[in-house]
Amino acid sequence: MKAWTLHGIGQLEYADAPVPKRKEGWVLVRVEAAGVCGSDIPRIFQTGTYHFPTIPGHEFAGRVIEAHGKDAAWMGKRVGVFPLIPCKECDPCQSGQYEMCRNYDYLGSRRDGGFAELVSVPAWNLMELPDAVQMEEAAMFEPAAVALHAIRRISISPETTVALFGLGTIGLLVTQWLRIFGVRRVFAVGHNPGHGAKMQETASEAYAYLNAGDEGADAVSWIMEHTGGRGADAAIECAGSDETLSGCIECVKPGGQILMIGNPKGDMKLDQATYWKLLRRQIRLTGTWNSSFFHSKEDDWHKTAAACAEGKLRLSELITHRLAPADLMQGLLLAKDRLEYHNKIMVCNERQTGMGQEGL
Ligand SMILES: [Zn+2]
Ligand SMILES: [Zn+2]
Repeated sequence: MKAWTLHGIGQLEYADAPVPKRKEGWVLVRVEAAGVCGSDIPRIFQTGTYHFPTIPGHEFAGRVIEAHGKDAAWMGKRVGVFPLIPCKECDPCQSGQYEMCRNYDYLGSRRDGGFAELVSVPAWNLMELPDAVQMEEAAMFEPAAVALHAIRRISISPETTVALFGLGTIGLLVTQWLRIFGVRRVFAVGHNPGHGAKMQETASEAYAYLNAGDEGADAVSWIMEHTGGRGADAAIECAGSDETLSGCIECVKPGGQILMIGNPKGDMKLDQATYWKLLRRQIRLTGTWNSSFFHSKEDDWHKTAAACAEGKLRLSELITHRLAPADLMQGLLLAKDRLEYHNKIMVCNERQTGMGQEGL
């Protein structure tokens, strides 16, 4: 089979690779769509995977082409794949909170993932796709479930006023879930007007966007002004910078809640005055990590699949580039060097592909 194998930091090569070995309880999936995640860029170009060689790619979907024994029923099924392989022994695993497993394996970082024709996956990690869901949508279940998981960790009602910092793919998916939860007032701050337009297109036209890079733009006073000086009920941090975390603290109302989603770009420092506000305003800080998957319609993955099948969650509209597998590097470089406007970059194994075919 052909695969993109990472042999060292920045050394990603497209070449023939051995067909993965399928262990007992595992099946072989033929990848039909695989998304580039923001986290793949540092993983490939800066930090590397846990060991080499590894095939990256943790956002993918496909069809089961080999399954045996008790897993034989999976044969031929269209599947989404939860990339985290839990130990099933630690305390979080015992309570079904696999996303907090202390000793997990992970497809596409700790072991081979989806930037390949074939990938070996535990049958436990599979989710059958509803007919109404496209492969490329299913390849976005992972980030969509991460966004849902985050929102489910705070209390939200249609009346909640939300401030959001950082409109990357996760931020945009968060705004779609906020619309699905009925939230009417969202003030989003980003650094790319294209993302602001995308939010208004896919989440709600009523959601307001401020481009932080604009001359004189001041996110905190913008939010305070639009909330009559009260501040937002909830602030969501999707950028992973101390500046935006401070922004959340500054703009949230007394007794409000802050949800922290963004992977930190470096140390997260707060100045003393801001830290005081955290105490005096009795702000509730909530972290979130990964997504829930426990074979129930209540888990984040099944809720994501249902919302996608019903057309409420509009995933394919976030795809700006569709590439043939051999062209993955173009997509990675485009994301790394921000060469042109992009959102989700998708590798599609079985369709017409091309660069920049927005809206296809
Ligand atoms: Zn990801
Ligand atoms: Zn565990």
